[in-house]
Amino acid sequence: METEKKIMGRCPLCGGNVVKTCKGYRCEHNIGEQPSCALNINAIIGNRKMEDNEIVRLLEERFLLLDGFASKEGKSFPTVIELTDDGTINMRPVIGKCPHCSGDMLVGSRAFNCSNYGNQQAPCTFSIWRNIGGHQVTLAEAKEICEKGMTASELEMYREDGTIYHKRLGLSPDKLQVIKI
Ligand SMILES: [Zn+2]
Ligand SMILES: [Zn+2]
Repeated sequence: METEKKIMGRCPLCGGNVVKTCKGYRCEHNIGEQPSCALNINAIIGNRKMEDNEIVRLLEERFLLLDGFASKEGKSFPTVIELTDDGTINMRPVIGKCPHCSGDMLVGSRAFNCSNYGNQQAPCTFSIWRNIGGHQVTLAEAKEICEKGMTASELEMYREDGTIYHKRLGLSPDKLQVIKI
């Protein structure tokens, strides 16, 4: 029986269709002895199985923040995966520069933290909680706070009593706190 090939999206390298295979996801031009395109993404990355909708987003956005990767010791961790220009996957926890001290901002399970947190000479306590007011802060929003000092749009958040409000997230004047604006 011939089954319809499931198309995940457009290949960012060559513009071809990316299809689901038994082992993962590959560009329709990644075939034969000398393929004209290198895109071939394994479904298992960092001991974690990729979902189809995550591949769709990765092809469009190129960077994706995901939880649930597993270390050899069985510890669960989040990271950012990047689909590079040569079709390989990079795993890197860095999302940008700390607006306070220019250290690296790293994604953790509960917050984005400055890499200089434990620096003896110049400690930095800047962090962005990953959940603020019930809103799950996205990679794009965390980058906006670090790079532009504020999210591009207002985000939906919730009070204890269940009511909804909308605020931007941005930096305090000393660039050490994330505040609702
Ligand atoms: Zn391709
Ligand atoms: Zn810092």
